[in-house]
Amino acid sequence: MSITAQNVTKRFGDFVALDDVTVECPAGELVALLGPSGGGKTTLLRVIAGLEVPDSGTVLFKDDDITKHSARDRNVGFVFQHYALFRHMTVFENVAFGLRVRKWAEPRVRDRVLELLRLVRLEEKAGLYPANLSGGQKQRIALVRALAPEPKVMLLDEPFGALDAKVRSELRDWLRRLHNELHVTSIFVTHDQEEAFEVADRVVVLNKGRVEQTGAPVEVFERPANGFVMDFLGNVNKLPVRVEGGRALLGETGTVELPGRVFGASENGRTDAYVRPHELDLARTADGGNCLLARVLHVNPAGSVVKVRLWAEDFGLMINVDITPERYRALALKPTEPVYITPKAEAVSDTDYAI
Ligand code: ATP
Repeated sequence: MSITAQNVTKRFGDFVALDDVTVECPAGELVALLGPSGGGKTTLLRVIAGLEVPDSGTVLFKDDDITKHSARDRNVGFVFQHYALFRHMTVFENVAFGLRVRKWAEPRVRDRVLELLRLVRLEEKAGLYPANLSGGQKQRIALVRALAPEPKVMLLDEPFGALDAKVRSELRDWLRRLHNELHVTSIFVTHDQEEAFEVADRVVVLNKGRVEQTGAPVEVFERPANGFVMDFLGNVNKLPVRVEGGRALLGETGTVELPGRVFGASENGRTDAYVRPHELDLARTADGGNCLLARVLHVNPAGSVVKVRLWAEDFGLMINVDITPERYRALALKPTEPVYITPKAEAVSDTDYAI
């Protein structure tokens, strides 16, 4: 069952929360609505669920226009940030709740609940109450409770927002596993790009009520549509440049040619280049000249890449560079030491400054 929101506009008074938004979620896919706070993600999810009525536009489930259908008639499973489990019911009864409302026969209820509890490895907790579960376990129950009545679509609003980093990451795996098992067309809201990229088949970047970009995670990461998307994905240096002859040159006098991306420039060629830390390298000497002098401010060696933060005094810029642990050891960097930032040769030749 595919989901389409077509040219949806939603106002709250004079405020336009969704401005002619079109989003498609193909049947069986898991789509992430990604964007900053206030971008319109929850509003779009609520329009799809039937909890908000759009001012214009349509919502289709497959080819059926369901814009005017009530939330109840849409057969949607909803998962919220706060588990919203019934405290006075056992785990089993929580998962069974939607089935009993739909008057499923008792043996079928039992089979379905146990099947789902097995799927999230919580069958042993069936007789416990929510108070006896961890946050991650509660959210696993909330997920299968929403899935129990075999909804046509699943909508999840920041489902892991209330949990700590480790549990969040485990739950992402659970969501992906459940999705691979059950293939229910699903849309989930997150402001965390890592979460969106790890879990989703397709990402929709929403900002100020408009779609900035839609694509598979790899497309959005490798070909961000504009500066907003590139900036929002994070971990990027935004450096002032002058574009000249298809080259992005740093600063007023522009001697250092940078890798990365630019998105449009003013008449005099001024703009920002977005350079990812791994597109830069460090060197002890100014070999070849295409480099800028900086001082090491901070080194974070924890991880498969070493993250170096530097201050380029001549340009008044803070710059992040990622290097391999081997390179870090070879350079033997220390705080406050001068060092040269150099664009990686392959990164410069790979860039696209057509504007
Ligand atoms: P967050 O991640 O903070 O939840 P979001 O991208 O989900 O953000 P929405 O909750 O969709 O954003 O809100 C979009 C905008 O619409 C916000 O500026 C919000 O204040 C406004 N808004 C949402 N619901 C209402 C409402 N019922 N009445 C008035 N304004 C609203």
